[in-house]
Amino acid sequence: MTSSLATVAYIGATILFILSLGGLSNQETARRGNLYGMIGMALAVLATVFGPQVTVAGIPWIVGALVVGGAIGLYAARSVQMTQMPELVALMHSMVGMAAVLVGYATYVDPEATKGFEGAAHTIHAMEIYIGIFIGAVTFSGSIAAFGKLSGRIGGSPLLLPARHWINLAGLLAVVYFGRLFLQAETIEEGMFPLFVMSAIALLFGIHMVMAIGGADMPVVVSMLNSYSGWAAAATGFMLSNDLLIVTGALVGSSGAILSYIMCNAMNRSFFSVIAGGFGTTAAAPKPAGGAAEPQGEVSPILAAETAELLRDAKNVIIVPGYGMAVAQAQHTVFEITRTLREKGVNVRFGIHPVAGRMPGHMNVLLAEAKVPYDIVFEMDELNDDFPDTDVAIVIGANDIVNPAAQDDPTSPIAGMPVLEVWKARTSIVMKRSMASGYAGVDNPLFYKDNNRMLFGDAKKMLDEVLVALKA
Ligand code: NDP
Repeated sequence: MTSSLATVAYIGATILFILSLGGLSNQETARRGNLYGMIGMALAVLATVFGPQVTVAGIPWIVGALVVGGAIGLYAARSVQMTQMPELVALMHSMVGMAAVLVGYATYVDPEATKGFEGAAHTIHAMEIYIGIFIGAVTFSGSIAAFGKLSGRIGGSPLLLPARHWINLAGLLAVVYFGRLFLQAETIEEGMFPLFVMSAIALLFGIHMVMAIGGADMPVVVSMLNSYSGWAAAATGFMLSNDLLIVTGALVGSSGAILSYIMCNAMNRSFFSVIAGGFGTTAAAPKPAGGAAEPQGEVSPILAAETAELLRDAKNVIIVPGYGMAVAQAQHTVFEITRTLREKGVNVRFGIHPVAGRMPGHMNVLLAEAKVPYDIVFEMDELNDDFPDTDVAIVIGANDIVNPAAQDDPTSPIAGMPVLEVWKARTSIVMKRSMASGYAGVDNPLFYKDNNRMLFGDAKKMLDEVLVALKA
């Protein structure tokens, strides 16, 4: 393939990626957006493999890598549970970071890669390598720490070292100092030492940054690492002089940054307070997620049959899904119940909190999979004022996102986070297995409210029973 044809293919792929991002911003066009992304990526891979930068001798290596990588990807995609998706995404971000580090080292030690760079061009190229490896190493270790937190292998509460801001600042100054040494190095051997030291600092920095963030602030970390992986890819593009990788990396980096901003807004946090970590821990340390919370009163249980009766008699129902719906894989039964109620003339709507579940858009994906019509799925802000006119608000495996303590208790680790005000409905029903806390590890006063009922059990099993009772 000639270089001009490869450039045309790259421009085509860039346009497809932009169309893909545009498509993904809306549920109705998301499928098309995915398709554009897939075609764009296929075009990008073909143009690169058969482009001027790859020699014929290199093709078997690339095909071998594609087969191995593709097989692992296919296996992971097929075997991973929907609830493990966030961990898988974190692991994939770590791969992008790792790739940037490896490409950085390879570019540095390859005399061919630096051929033709003299004077200022040489300095700029060396800076690209240094910064690329730095971003890659932070992304790699940060994503591994996030993987540990999301999969429950590492505790969810923030790790707060004494003088942690000073430690970060000292690390940053050391990175700048060794960067200077690196740029002044006369030989590759001389440059290796500062590069190694910086890589070690960057790896520790990534771990420290993610470990300091805990509880309900984790969604920002997930989208922030998504953004970092984009910048790591862009840095790889600079090192390999590959324009498409630079553009694609910048698209991922900036869209991830915008998503982090949206997440921060959704949780009423400033970006810097999240990054600084440890929010809410000074007043009340969160308990580990999933642990039993201290009982704060009496709860009123309800049976599936009684729930069905309340739903049948209701005019307006709002369903609030959370992480437990994903665990139970209850979305299809939720859809069946929705359809049955709508056939009976009940106005059923869904309220989606921006950080429900364990990854951005988690609930939307599940509901779309179950074919719930998009026009009855609303963002939190769109229907939060409607709860007082709602007969039944039914909470399916959600906890933190419906916790009134976020509004009432300034010492709560989730204080200030906007929540879905289900307790303002005539009756709220919370479906979960026990009194255990949610991800942020805080007790939920909603459970003890007079108008709240607890439907204890696995969400799928309980909803199946509700459906049978509704149809009876
Ligand atoms: P939570 O984690 O607060 O609560 C989920 C609840 O589901 C648990 O209390 C659990 O209670 C219940 N549950 C678990 N399994 C089942 C089951 N099989 N059947 C019924 N219930 C079940 O989830 P939310 O969605 O309310 O809130 C999301 C939380 O995750 C927020 O704190 C958010 O910050 C955080 N987070 C979000 C990310 C994102 O990007 N969206 C990323 C990382 C973290 P029980 O054990 O008693 O059943």
